[in-house]
Amino acid sequence: MQTYTAPLRDMRFVLHELFADSPYAAPAASDDADAEVLDAILEEAARFTQGVLLPLNASGDAEGCRIENGVVTTPKGFQEAYRQYRDGGWPSLAADPRWGGQGLPETLNMLVEEMICATNVSFSLYPGLTRGAVILLDRHAEDALKRLYLPKLVSGEWCGTMCLTEAHCGTDLGLLRTKAEPAADGAYRITGSKIFISSGEHDLADNIIHLVLARLPDAPAGVRGISLFLVPKFLPTAEDAPGERNALAATALEHKMGIKAQATCQMSFDGAKGWLIGEPNRGLAAMDASPRDRRTRRGQPIRSSSIRTFGAC
Ligand SMILES: Cc1cc2nc3c(=O)[nH]c(=O)nc-3n(C[C@H](O)[C@H](O)[C@H](O)COP(=O)(O)OP(=O)(O)OC[C@H]3O[C@@H](n4cnc5c(N)ncnc54)[C@H](O)[C@@H]3O)c2cc1C
Repeated sequence: MQTYTAPLRDMRFVLHELFADSPYAAPAASDDADAEVLDAILEEAARFTQGVLLPLNASGDAEGCRIENGVVTTPKGFQEAYRQYRDGGWPSLAADPRWGGQGLPETLNMLVEEMICATNVSFSLYPGLTRGAVILLDRHAEDALKRLYLPKLVSGEWCGTMCLTEAHCGTDLGLLRTKAEPAADGAYRITGSKIFISSGEHDLADNIIHLVLARLPDAPAGVRGISLFLVPKFLPTAEDAPGERNALAATALEHKMGIKAQATCQMSFDGAKGWLIGEPNRGLAAMDASPRDRRTRRGQPIRSSSIRTFGAC
């Protein structure tokens, strides 16, 4: 039987002493969240991860995800665990209060993520990719898209993905072939295939928001010709509910050693409707989900790296 005891004493040291002066320790809100409150949240995270996620780790891996006609079913217990995760407010911990987040320190969120990964990596990649999508959209999307998508992603009602890799290009994304063609309505039509897309399709959320790298017509070759698009599984209605199905589907699950309860998918986009995020041809730079910009104590911006992007994968 697997066991895990969250190292709370070490975590409190990290939170209150080691990184107390880190820019990531500054809350975006919740000034009244004192050390006692943060400790209580850590303890509750330990209870949730040890009591709910850990028992699903081995069984989830043994059962794995299944795909039938593009519909992915997660292993027994994952839907209920995700519901508890969402209802417990865990997805919104460090998110911006403008979008329904609790604005708590990023350092606290990282420790909670550490517990989630330690107890169940397969599970961690569902909210992990969503958190990446939230950070990215908050930083690069137009306000109208932020208002439409961020509250649902922050609450965990909807999930996110990051679609970079194609069959012929992983590290060398300059080779990617997925196309984006401008449509008359100001949106784009995305066509191409992606592989190894974490949480690409599953039954944990009402909608899945894909962030897809693709090439505009006449884009320069290589990495300087890649743009980023938001492509929802369901096109939201005026009431922010999941509406019409978009032209995209999971075509297969990747076969992996371990983390089989994580739905790592091959995806097909067949003229799917998408919206440009950030500037044309600057998509690779925008595919950045490191935690929100903060200043170091010397006033220098913290350098965003793609570590978070690929770390999240
Ligand atoms: C479990 C899992 C989940 C994933 N989730 C996602 C996801 O959500 N979204 C997504 O887009 N992708 C995802 N990926 C894909 C992942 O990002 C790629 O596997 C990764 O980018 C490496 O690409 P590759 O596998 O094609 O390896 P390659 O690009 O073939 O690289 C193989 C090795 O060669 C080295 N290499 C490659 N090119 C060079 C070079 N020019 N010079 C020197 N060394 C080089 C690499 O460093 C590496 O060690 C996932 C992969 C896995 C295994």
